[in-house]
Amino acid sequence: MNYSVDGWSNFCRVFEIPKEYPGGYCFGGGKPVNFQMLDWFSPVPSIHQPTVTKDAWRKLVGEIQEKEVSLDELQEQLIPWLLKKPYVKPDREYLVLFDFGAAIKFSIPEAEAPDRQEFEKHTCPYRKHTPGQQDISEADEWLVVGNDRVCRFCGSMHIDDFKALFEDKGARLELNTRRDKIYIHRKGVGNAGEGAIKIKILHWQGLSEEDLEILNAKLLHGRQALMADLGMSKR
Ligand SMILES: [Zn+2]
Repeated sequence: MNYSVDGWSNFCRVFEIPKEYPGGYCFGGGKPVNFQMLDWFSPVPSIHQPTVTKDAWRKLVGEIQEKEVSLDELQEQLIPWLLKKPYVKPDREYLVLFDFGAAIKFSIPEAEAPDRQEFEKHTCPYRKHTPGQQDISEADEWLVVGNDRVCRFCGSMHIDDFKALFEDKGARLELNTRRDKIYIHRKGVGNAGEGAIKIKILHWQGLSEEDLEILNAKLLHGRQALMADLGMSKR
């Protein structure tokens, strides 16, 4: 089926479908159901997202361009990409709701599920800060992406794999400005589909003094390397 998509409707949200729905009649205002929202993005890459209203666009620019989009083709591109997202779990179903009026459902194909169950379990420390998710222990897995273990819940690298990077001269570490996340830059890992690209602070808490000193030196070195790349003096 085809849909007309413009810059205003080129948007979608990904929800985890509840495991069970409430039973009984829905008279008297209905029953609340929790669809956990996991992601949002513009699904059609070639359509620019305007920052003004439709009316303003018509006045300032003129006609609004619409693109015919085949939902079949779009989901062929989107689903393999979505299945690599760290929030996708083997035993759940997901709903993608598009602002242009379409919806698709996806889950990990049965055939791939057995491998996935072999991942090591843990409880992501970010769970306690996520409403409705606090009491779930051992709910998360260490996905193996490339050569790294990656937390399925928050996308962080496993601390032991992170510590192994201290020895890797080619790896550059970069602390974000909020100082709660470290980006990992390495050859061969250009995006999250190829390995871990970050570690968040709750996953590196618990490092020994000695490890923290090494980490500090590595971060400083990463900054100098970045400045050298940018042609700036390290003074
Ligand atoms: Zn985590």
